[in-house]
Amino acid sequence: MIIDLLIPLAIVLGVILLFLVGFMMLKTVLFSPKQKSVKPRSFVEVDGQSVAERLGLAVQFKTISNPDQAKIDPAPFLGLQRLFKTLYPQVHNQLTLEIVNDYSLLYTWEGKNPSLKPIMLTSHLDVVPADEGEDSGWEHPPFSGEMADGFVWGRGTIDVKNGVIGILEAVEYLLKQDFEPERTVYLGFGHDEEIGGINGAKKIVDLLNSRGVKLGSVLDEGGSVINGFLPGVETAVGAIGISEKGYLSLRLSVEENGGHSSMPAQETAIGILSKAIMNLESQPMPAHLEVVEFLMGYVGSALPFFQRFLFANAWLFAGLLKKKLAKSKLLNASMRTTTAPTIFHAGVKDNVLPGKAEAVVNLRIFPGDDLASVYEMVLERIHDERVHVTPYEGDVLGDAGWNPSPVADTESPYFLRLTQLIKESYPGALVAPYLVLGATDARHYGPLTINALRFTPVLMEDGDLGRVHGLNERLSIENCAKMVGFYIAYIQQLADLPKEVDVAEQGASEEVEPEEDLDDYLEDIPEDFMEGLTKQDQI
Ligand SMILES: [Zn+2]
Repeated sequence: MIIDLLIPLAIVLGVILLFLVGFMMLKTVLFSPKQKSVKPRSFVEVDGQSVAERLGLAVQFKTISNPDQAKIDPAPFLGLQRLFKTLYPQVHNQLTLEIVNDYSLLYTWEGKNPSLKPIMLTSHLDVVPADEGEDSGWEHPPFSGEMADGFVWGRGTIDVKNGVIGILEAVEYLLKQDFEPERTVYLGFGHDEEIGGINGAKKIVDLLNSRGVKLGSVLDEGGSVINGFLPGVETAVGAIGISEKGYLSLRLSVEENGGHSSMPAQETAIGILSKAIMNLESQPMPAHLEVVEFLMGYVGSALPFFQRFLFANAWLFAGLLKKKLAKSKLLNASMRTTTAPTIFHAGVKDNVLPGKAEAVVNLRIFPGDDLASVYEMVLERIHDERVHVTPYEGDVLGDAGWNPSPVADTESPYFLRLTQLIKESYPGALVAPYLVLGATDARHYGPLTINALRFTPVLMEDGDLGRVHGLNERLSIENCAKMVGFYIAYIQQLADLPKEVDVAEQGASEEVEPEEDLDDYLEDIPEDFMEGLTKQDQI
């Protein structure tokens, strides 16, 4: 009897299982179609050696930022300005230069058609300090800008005087060729990105905003073409930052009776504070797969089958994926607000119980969370009234940090043009939008444009990312040449985007019929290319 019932049941279950497996395999096959390759473009050939030498000269100015504007040593910043005037005479003859807040630079290159939205390219002039001691570990002194082994060496060669020099080189070249942009092109170089950009980029944005300027797009640092960007993806990936995380530092303090260490209370200030930190570490902020899934929607075709299978079926494997991804620092930070204890202070003597213990926790806020919600989640996790949680600086609902920045539109012609140029310049590379985990000046540009794209056109090999803010920062001569060629093409193309791009962005107006013209324009981008790059509807 029982067997009579079990057989049909097993058949039904088997059919369901087969159907389910078939469905999941189908989703895997359809997940993240291969990105179409594009015809390589011939970029302007640039003499990389001389670009690298000029970058080396810029490196020699120790433009180290300081939150206290009065404490900045003006000499290197002014010296760098003079260097630019010498190296780029056309830029300084034909563009308008405004010095913003003493050290930041804003260049305006008037376009032929002032009714079009301007484009902007930015980078920053300041660098982080570097140990100049004999045994610092630098193979070439960090502010020497020496040329050796096919590289220019020194602080700022990747982060990001290369961007400043690359952009100026490109504009100088285009001016010599009598190129006249349709759209106005702004170049903005802040002087304090490494400490938040409040006195530099923010002031440039305020100035443009006060003039009512709205930009089509801004290109800042952030991503680049990276070998080994994602575990499992062997192809180089052109990573374009389309948003960045927010930032909040909180001070945790505990005050308890101190006293002689021979008769300690059961719980001491240090113990209570340690427990609070432990509670934060053991209960990470909630994970969200959207950002990683979005990224995988672009590069999934290059994933090994099993990973692809999991991502294509995230509806079923969300829990497993979150657990697996949390093991990678990069991917973990790409799916949640992270919690990092960075300062811990208590005690002065081995036989005295401290009356006070204090720690600082730095949180990087994931899009969807915000300053207030993160603060609440921290309180919930600590769950101990003896631990006082206050902003490290400022007011938690105001200036204690900042919220994640808006997400750029990955279907805008600005984004699509940039992706196409990357694929033309680095044949075989995949292109993907991603979430910038650190902070860049681009976050200040929200009032001027939604299209803040974070990408420097250089190829980062294994280990190069560790040189940023680290030892032996360097850039290859080949990268120098390609970077300038790329910026030239970028300006030529983006500055000449037709007005329909702006109209489509703002919504159709009655007088013009943007649809047709926009289609004409989009025709130069092969349709299948766009399909490959635009996030596919998930079935
Ligand atoms: Zn930087």
